[in-house]
Amino acid sequence: MSNMGVLGRLKAMAISVRQWFDADYRSEELLLRKDIPNKVEWVRTIPFVILHAGCLGVIWTGWSWTAVAAAVFLYFVRMFAVTGFFHRYFSHRTFSTSRPMQFVLAVWAGTCVQRGALWWAYTHRHHHQHSDEPVDKHSPRQHGFLWSHIGWITSAKNFPTDYSRIKDLAKFPELVFLNRFDVLVPVLFAVLLFFLGVAMNAIWPSLGVTGGQMLVWAFFISTTVLFHGTACINSMAHVFGRRRYETGDDSRNSFLLSLITMGEGWHNNHHMHMSCVRQGFYWWEVDITYYLLKMMSWTGLIWDLRPVPKAAYDTTRHLSHQPVAAKATVSDADTAATEEAAAVRSLPVKP
Ligand SMILES: [Zn+2]
Ligand SMILES: [Zn+2]
Repeated sequence: MSNMGVLGRLKAMAISVRQWFDADYRSEELLLRKDIPNKVEWVRTIPFVILHAGCLGVIWTGWSWTAVAAAVFLYFVRMFAVTGFFHRYFSHRTFSTSRPMQFVLAVWAGTCVQRGALWWAYTHRHHHQHSDEPVDKHSPRQHGFLWSHIGWITSAKNFPTDYSRIKDLAKFPELVFLNRFDVLVPVLFAVLLFFLGVAMNAIWPSLGVTGGQMLVWAFFISTTVLFHGTACINSMAHVFGRRRYETGDDSRNSFLLSLITMGEGWHNNHHMHMSCVRQGFYWWEVDITYYLLKMMSWTGLIWDLRPVPKAAYDTTRHLSHQPVAAKATVSDADTAATEEAAAVRSLPVKP
């Protein structure tokens, strides 16, 4: 390799590293480049390696019931944030809230270590516009299972946030700030958990919990499992399960995935009718996120929960609900694109 080649690579690595601390640093260049390949970039896997390696800290810290309970509790508290806020609020605007509460939702979801709400929403809206097409960022049909699960996040191609495509969210500087410095909330959260463990050790030593245990269990292990739970929707929910609607993509409904993800497993329902807050359309389609959002609406913190459209219950439009791979048709893809445009409607947030 020539010196220029080595220098070029080193420069690209330096830019990647700097983007961990300032996600918008030179991101315009990445957005303009059309030649970035769909391949794993090793330097961009380092945050994932750190996240997974942190779990091994258990060798030194050991465990306690308190630390394990905190890990399980924070898994569900944060899965609710992924599905209720990143997905159903920021990506699809399926309910309304106030501007201060919107900020709280973005910080809460920021503890999930899945980058900022604006990157999440931009990336996800792109998925709906191009589901399982060649340009879909995480399609098992196009690029294989592993790529759709984790590989896609390590490509520079999928790193930047295109603010011009999410203008309804990009007009809030506080959200842009959280998105640009997306490492801030996770680091503060990890430090907070560590000191919570230290404090519990001092106040209730009989619990046997330490700062290190809280860091390993409540942050590293809980976050790693949370990542894979979420990623299952990009990978498994387009491969395993049954289809009720012809959506032009491979999306599926899965009870098991819905339990793991608090309702996101009704992915075929969601691809068909993405602008309603509820994803389980029948009482037996368990959708914990919807129940919790409904309860939040009783407090007045959120409102205007958008209902399942009547068309969803028109059984003449249902497939036989058998595990068959359906082929895309142009008219269905058009329907999905039109509904997406409706989902990203004008701002429901009070200034
Ligand atoms: Zn969606
Ligand atoms: Zn999908």
